[in-house]
Amino acid sequence: MLNEQLRDVLQRMPKAELHIHIEGSLEPELIFALAQRNGVKLDYASVEALRAAYAFTDLQSFLDIYYAGASVLLQEQDFYDMTAAYLKRAEADNVRHTEIFFDPQTHTARGVPIKTVIDGIHRACQDSPVSATLILSFLRHLSEAEAFATLEEALPYRDKYLGIGLDSSELGNPPEKFARVFARCKELGFRLVAHAGEEGPPAYIETALDVLKVERIDHGVRCLDDAALTQRLARERIALTVCPLSNIKLCVFDEMAQHNLLELLDAGIVATVNSDDPAYFGGYMNDNFIATFEALPLGLSHAHRLARNGFSAAFLPEAQKQAFLAEVDAFFAAV
Ligand SMILES: [Zn+2]
Repeated sequence: MLNEQLRDVLQRMPKAELHIHIEGSLEPELIFALAQRNGVKLDYASVEALRAAYAFTDLQSFLDIYYAGASVLLQEQDFYDMTAAYLKRAEADNVRHTEIFFDPQTHTARGVPIKTVIDGIHRACQDSPVSATLILSFLRHLSEAEAFATLEEALPYRDKYLGIGLDSSELGNPPEKFARVFARCKELGFRLVAHAGEEGPPAYIETALDVLKVERIDHGVRCLDDAALTQRLARERIALTVCPLSNIKLCVFDEMAQHNLLELLDAGIVATVNSDDPAYFGGYMNDNFIATFEALPLGLSHAHRLARNGFSAAFLPEAQKQAFLAEVDAFFAAV
C-alpha cells in the first residue's frame, strides 16, 4: 500500500501532461448528453452499457469504441464542452500545463468542418487557468495523402496549434509511411511527435526519430527490447510520454507490477506519466501516478523526477519552463 504522505505528494505536486487525446476524455455521461443535444443515435442503451463495453483486448478494440464515442461531436460548442470538462478535471489534479492531441480526421470524415473542431477546442483552452497548447494528430491507418489534405485544411488556423503528432493503429502503419508530410510539417516550423513502440517494435521508434525527425516519442515503452536504442534515448534526452493505465487496459503489460516505468527511469530515460485516453482507461493524471506508485517500488525521489521530466519535455518557452521547474523544486523542498 502507498503511504499517506506519498499519496498526498502525488496528488498535490505540480504536473505537466504531454499525452492526452481530447476525444479520449469524453466520459460516457457527456457522450449521452451530446447525443441527446444533437439527435445522434448511439448503439448503447445507457451510460452503464457504454461503460461496460470498455473491456478492451488490444489497441484496435479500443479504437472501435473511441470512434463511435466521437460521433456525437458536431457543433463548436460540443468540442468546447469536451475540452472544458477535461481541463477542469486536469486542474483538479494540479496539472499546470497540458499539450492536447486532437484528431481532426475523426471529425472531418463525418462532415464536421475543421474550423469547428479547432475553434471549439482552442476557445476552451483559452478560458482555462491551466496552460494548454494543441497538437494536431494524423490518423496513421489513413493514407499520407489524406494527412496532406488535412494539413492543408488546418493551415489557416495554425496560430491555434503548435505541434503535429501521429496516432491510431500502430501495427502495420510504420512512421515512415508519413515521411513526406512530416518533412513538410518540419519545414513549416511545427513541433513534431509520434506514437511509436506501444504495440509496434523498437524499429518504429528509430524511424520516428530518424525519418520523421520527432522530438518526443509517445509511449515508446518497447524501447527496452533494444539496448542501443535505450542508450540513445537516454543520451539524446528524448522524452517518452508513458501512459501506465492505458498500457494495462490495452494489454501492453499484463499488470501494473510488470510495467517498465522504473526500468526506463533507471536507464536514464526522460520518462513522463500521462493519461492518454482517461475516460476509457480508468483514470486521469493522479490516478495514473497513484496506480503506478502503488504497484512499483517508486518513492519520493521518483515523484520529483517524474514531475520535473514532464515540464522539461514540454514545448514551452524556456522562461516558462524554468518557472514551472522552480515551482516543482520548491514543492519538493517543502515536503
Ligand atoms: Zn495516445
